[in-house]
Amino acid sequence: MSARLVLLGPPGAGKGTQAARISERLNVPAISTGDIFRANVAEQTELGKRAQRYMDAGEYVPDEVTNAMVRDRLAQTDAVDGFLLDGYPRTADQVAELDGMLATAGTRLGAVVELTADTDEVVTRLLKRAAEQGRADDTESVIRRRLEVYAEQTAPLADLYAERGLLVQVDGIGALDEVTDRIMTALEPKLA
Ligand code: AMP
Repeated sequence: MSARLVLLGPPGAGKGTQAARISERLNVPAISTGDIFRANVAEQTELGKRAQRYMDAGEYVPDEVTNAMVRDRLAQTDAVDGFLLDGYPRTADQVAELDGMLATAGTRLGAVVELTADTDEVVTRLLKRAAEQGRADDTESVIRRRLEVYAEQTAPLADLYAERGLLVQVDGIGALDEVTDRIMTALEPKLA
C-alpha cells in the first residue's frame, strides 16, 4: 500500500516513536526532519552548522534550509512510493513548498495525523527524555520555547489540513500499542 502521510503534534506528543511504528506497518520510510538535523549537527556538516543554533534555542531552522533538505530527501528512491513525514511541514511556507514538491511529482498527501497531548503531559515527557537522553534542546526553558513556537506556527496547520479534508486527530496519551492502534484505525478510511 502506498501512503503519503504527515504526522503533526507538539514536541513530546510521541511523534518519533509512533512514526517508527506506523512506518513499519505501512512499509514506508519515516522521515524525521529533527533526526536529519541532529545527524548533521553530530557530524558537523555545513547543514548541521547552520541548523544548530536554532535547534539549541528551540527555534525553527529557516524555511529555505529545511525545505531544501526535505526536497532532497523526498527525491530519494525509497520515498517515491510513499513516506511518513515526522516534524515537517511546521510552517505555512513549508506546507506550500511540500504542495509544490508533490505536485511536481504528480502525487498528493493521503492524510495528516495530528497527535494530541496536553501541555503538562508533554512537558513532563520531555523533561523525562532530557534526563534519559540528554538532548541539547530538552532543557525546561528551551522546551517552553519549543511549545510556544509550535502553538504559534505549527498548530494552525491542523486547521488548514482539516479544510482540505486530510486531518485525522488522534489522542497521543496512552500505552504505545494503544496509540499506534488508534492511529491505524483513524487512517484506515483515508488509505482505502
Ligand atoms: P524535532 O525532533 O522534530 O522536535 O525537531 C528538533 C528541532 O529541529 C526543532 O526544534 C527545530 O529546531 C528543528 N526542526 C525540525 N523540523 C523542523 C522543521 N520542519 N522546520 C524548522 N525546524 C525544524
